[in-house]
This record gives sequence, structure tokens and C-alpha cells, in this order.
Amino acid sequence: METKIVPMKEENLDKNALEEAGEVIKKGGLVAFPTETVYGLGGNALDEAAAGKIYRAKGRPSDNPLIVHICRLEDIYPIVKEVPEGALKLADAFWPGPLTMILRKSDKVPYATTGGLDTVAVRMPGHKTALAFIGAAGGYVAAPSANTSGKPSPTLAKYVTEDLGGRIDMIIDGGRIAIGLESTIVDLTETIPVILRPGYITKEMLEKVLGYVETDKTILDDDAGQAPKAPGMKYKHYAPKGELTIMSGSREMVIEAINQKSREMEDKGKKVGVIGTDDTIAFYRADVVKSAGSREKEDTIARALYRILREFDDEGVDVIYSESFEESAKAGGIGQAIMNRLLKAAGHHIERV
Ligand code: AMP
Ligand code: MG
Repeated sequence: METKIVPMKEENLDKNALEEAGEVIKKGGLVAFPTETVYGLGGNALDEAAAGKIYRAKGRPSDNPLIVHICRLEDIYPIVKEVPEGALKLADAFWPGPLTMILRKSDKVPYATTGGLDTVAVRMPGHKTALAFIGAAGGYVAAPSANTSGKPSPTLAKYVTEDLGGRIDMIIDGGRIAIGLESTIVDLTETIPVILRPGYITKEMLEKVLGYVETDKTILDDDAGQAPKAPGMKYKHYAPKGELTIMSGSREMVIEAINQKSREMEDKGKKVGVIGTDDTIAFYRADVVKSAGSREKEDTIARALYRILREFDDEGVDVIYSESFEESAKAGGIGQAIMNRLLKAAGHHIERV
């Protein structure tokens, strides 16, 4: 299959191309599109066969559910059993935006889309191209991240092409993504709302609207042995080809430990990559040293993380050492989302020095 690539800016939407993309979805095809979090791989959320195509294109296990993307709040009613008051409050505060809500699904949503669950994940993305595309596609677009299963989510269209080129009908290239990490997921099906995946919308932000919110225990701990709440959480996501270790400790100790380990690995003929930050990269001696951004501006780190992991893959790095963001994770904010994704990429391999 030839994949058509259509460049499009949010400020300058191309109506004809959006119509065409919408037609592809209505006919059961697949279109990758930009959102504010990462690129999504879209198919008709109400069509069982389209969901199957998404799983196949990504090589994703079919019990790992998809998120249903909508473009108008009223479209939520037909796909869920009930809309709790908390969901309306959250929609009012954060939609369109990087927040996904888990609700009880109606019969309209096929089990293929929800990975066999009686609940459905719903989000209204904060991106003009995404919203226009969802509207043109009939209002319900199932979309996981547009990467091959096991690879970091794509923050640039070229990574979508690398992973899915030739396997999907179209890619809408919206340039660089604003946030760079997937949406916050909050489960509203229980009495107390539970964060299943941290993201740009933080616990503190949710609590301002809802009162008390819980965080799923498996998010920052090693989840081995614990039954995950969301089926998707049991899969090791975002794994780079190189073996990634997170080094945690004081700035000086971490720099020293990473330099020492890098030397040992390089003596063994391994190619080593290091993930540092703007004010530490000058101190590292390794084959490839990259800055994730500034600790003072954590959104820069969120935006760079997946690109860096992919670049290490392309550069054939065998071993990766990364600084830790544990302290910022404890402080809340997007630091928690960064650390959650880094821990997953490292298979929870963290060394304290
Ligand atoms: P992705 O968009 O690739 O990050 O994948 C969507 C993720 O959303 C899945 O891996 C799940 O963790 C989560 N998810 C989707 N639907 C549900 C659901 N009904 N219940 C719990 N988690 C869900
Ligand atoms: Mg994903």
C-alpha cells in the first residue's frame, strides 16, 4: 500500500485534504494524525474491522485498548452508559486537551476497540487539525499512538513514516508535537477517580476540580507481580534497542558513575549513549551524549525524551545511561510523567549511587 503524506499546519487547515482523510476513515482505512500529545493512528472507533487493522498495523496485542477521540462534548453521550458529574467537570476544565477519561461503554462501541473491556477511554484532543479530522471522519476516531508496538510514541511525522509507512493509507504531517508524552488517563468508573497514566494534566490539577484523586500504585513502582488495572499497562512500552539504565543520586555522583560505567562498556567494545541535561552534558565522556533539556523547564524534557530514544536506536547505541528525574517526579508536575515513561523504557532498571 502506498501511504499518502499530507503536510498541514494548524493555522492553515486544508479542507479538501481533511475531507479525503475523513473518507478514508469512513471506508474503514487508517490515517495517522497530529495531536498535542503525540501522533495518533486513527481508524473508525465504531467499526470492529478498523480496530483490527489498527492492531495489525502497529503489531499491538489486541487486549491493549484504544482511546476513542471525539471533537464535540455532546458526542460522548452515545458511546457511554452514563456521564458522571466529575466527567463533565473535567471536560469543562481540560477539554479539548491532553486528558483521557475511562467511562462505562455503551453497546455502540465494539469490544474490538476496548480490548474486550466494558469501559471505554475517551479524549477530545487540543489540536485544531485533529479536531477537524475527527469531525470529517464521522466523529469517533479510535487512535493509539502511531508507532510500532514497543517503540517510543512518535513526536515527528518522520517517525510515523519509519514505523508505519506502507501499512496505512495516509499521514497528516503537522510538524513537531507540542507536549511529547501521551495523555493523562483517569478512571472515572469507581467512586474515587484513579490516575492510570500520568501526563501533562497532573494530579494536583485534577484534584482542584474533583477533590481527592488516587494514583494507581503500578505507575512509579516496579509493576512486576502486580495485576495492572489497565490491560495495556502490563506491556513493556517504549523500549529502546540499547539497554537503558537510570542512574539516581546526587548530581556529582551520577556524573562520576555514568562516566565510569561508560568507560567500562566502551572497553568491552560497546557503543554508549548518555541522557543528561543542559547543565550536565559538558561533563560526560561517552560516544553519544544528548541533553534532554532543562531541569528548570521540564516541558522541554517531555518534548525531547522520545526523540532521543529513537535517535539512540538509529545511531546503533548498545547501552544507555540516563540521569534520573525522581525528585521532580515526587514534586508532581510533568516530572512524574517523564519518570513514568523513562522507567518503562528502562524496564524499571534504576541504580542508586
Ligand atoms: P496509547 O494511545 O497507545 O497510549 O494506548 C492507549 C492506552 O490507553 C492503553 O494502553 C491503555 O493503557 C489505556 N486505555 C485505553 N482504554 C482503556 C480502558 N477502557 N481502561 C483502562 N485503560 C485504557
Ligand atoms: Mg502507545
